[in-house]
Amino acid sequence: MKPLVALVGRPNVGKSTLFNRITRSKSAITDSTPGVTRDRHMAQAEWQGKQFMVMDTGGYCHEKDTISTAMLEQTLTAIHEADAILFMVDVRSGLTYLDLDMSGMLKKHFRDKPVYLVVNKVESRQLAYEGEEFRKTGFTEPWFISAREGTGVADLLDEVVLSFPEASPEDEKDEVTRLAIIGRPNVGKSSFVNALLGTNRHIVSNTPGTTRDAIDSRFKRNGKDFLLIDTAGLRKRTKIDKGIEFYSSLRTEKSIERCDVALLLLDAEQGLEKQDIKIIQMAAEKKKGILILVNKWDLIEKDSKTSKKYSDNLYAQIGNLSWIPIHFVSALTRKNLYKAIDTAHEISLNRQRKISTSELNRFLQHVLSEVPPSSKSGRELKIKYMTQIGAHYPVFAFFCNNPDLVLSNYKRFLEKRLRQTFDFTGVPLSLRYKNK
Ligand code: GDP
Ligand code: GDP
Repeated sequence: MKPLVALVGRPNVGKSTLFNRITRSKSAITDSTPGVTRDRHMAQAEWQGKQFMVMDTGGYCHEKDTISTAMLEQTLTAIHEADAILFMVDVRSGLTYLDLDMSGMLKKHFRDKPVYLVVNKVESRQLAYEGEEFRKTGFTEPWFISAREGTGVADLLDEVVLSFPEASPEDEKDEVTRLAIIGRPNVGKSSFVNALLGTNRHIVSNTPGTTRDAIDSRFKRNGKDFLLIDTAGLRKRTKIDKGIEFYSSLRTEKSIERCDVALLLLDAEQGLEKQDIKIIQMAAEKKKGILILVNKWDLIEKDSKTSKKYSDNLYAQIGNLSWIPIHFVSALTRKNLYKAIDTAHEISLNRQRKISTSELNRFLQHVLSEVPPSSKSGRELKIKYMTQIGAHYPVFAFFCNNPDLVLSNYKRFLEKRLRQTFDFTGVPLSLRYKNK
């Protein structure tokens, strides 16, 4: 998980100019899911060999001269997630009430985070001198920069990357299965987590290494260790937790980033919405295991065919992601709660599955003789052998005389056969075609 730097400040101080400068060389984080990223103004950056995310918090503000409640909330929630805060002010307009409001808010809520007072638009020594007045904000170490010219930015970033928490490597090694419970508001995430943890005596709240606010909960089942990621917001709700899309989508993305398996909860009565599909795609792109849980199943009137019909309908909506298993659960009555966890564990094992090269090539020869690849241009495609690469999730490399000749329906066919032959239920597969 990469550290997050939040740019905060009233409108027009130059946040987006600095954002662009810091992130310029990097593409937006998930170009393939545009909606998710673009309206959040978040992108990757790298400095001194350290990778981090930068977020511009001003994007939602329409009124340019008041701090709207929404803007304040967004700023608060963004900062909540951040590892470092760049509090920007504008030397050319001088210290304003809005700046003072912001600094008061930062001091009140976020004492424990590094806040850098960034005085922008400083393009002369005279302006640097005038910028001294911003010490009145209570942040007494101003950094004078010009986001437009780029001056001062390097020094600032040198300091910022030093403040990042060190990743803790042993955290990655242990044999715990990391689960992220995600879903739209009110689908029953908190109830689900509470039902799982409520009766369980092995809860350890811990915050090793990761974001200061993320509290994970650990539990054991059948001798296996599980970690529920970021249950802080779910178990005990704070005001800012509820109902803020901005916040929850960022939080969701961070949770998915850290998990082995994402459990997407749906409300049985509401079904699947666009947003859910986006989240599923995001998890698939991040190569995480996925399990869909249709919650509140107790509310549905059922006969023997109801669940079959329900899942057929879901599969029709998620199209090519039909390798994702679906369970019907109730956080209220606890129906299938543990079955869901057991399946999540199986998915995690599937994700770690390594198939030997000899087994894969027996598979390949069989498939090739069953359905030889056709080629459009008349040139002959030869897939010579395949092997599994990638340490953390399944990636298969196919070596061919010319990768461009592999048609997309043949790629789909190969994936389908792979899935029929080896158990990769709940796991996205990557198939790569290489020249040999
Ligand atoms: P935001 O609302 O905080 O995101 O601010 P913007 O980045 O949109 O900048 C607001 C205005 O300030 C724009 O007209 C920018 O061109 C200008 N601006 C931004 N950075 C600088 C700077 O370093 N120097 C000067 N002189 N103008 C700047
Ligand atoms: P969250 O916003 O996703 O964390 O959802 P909550 O856990 O707060 O649940 C939202 C509402 O749905 C609450 O009123 C819960 O009591 C209710 N709820 C959650 N799970 C179930 C369930 O399995 N069955 C029924 N009938 N209600 C549920």
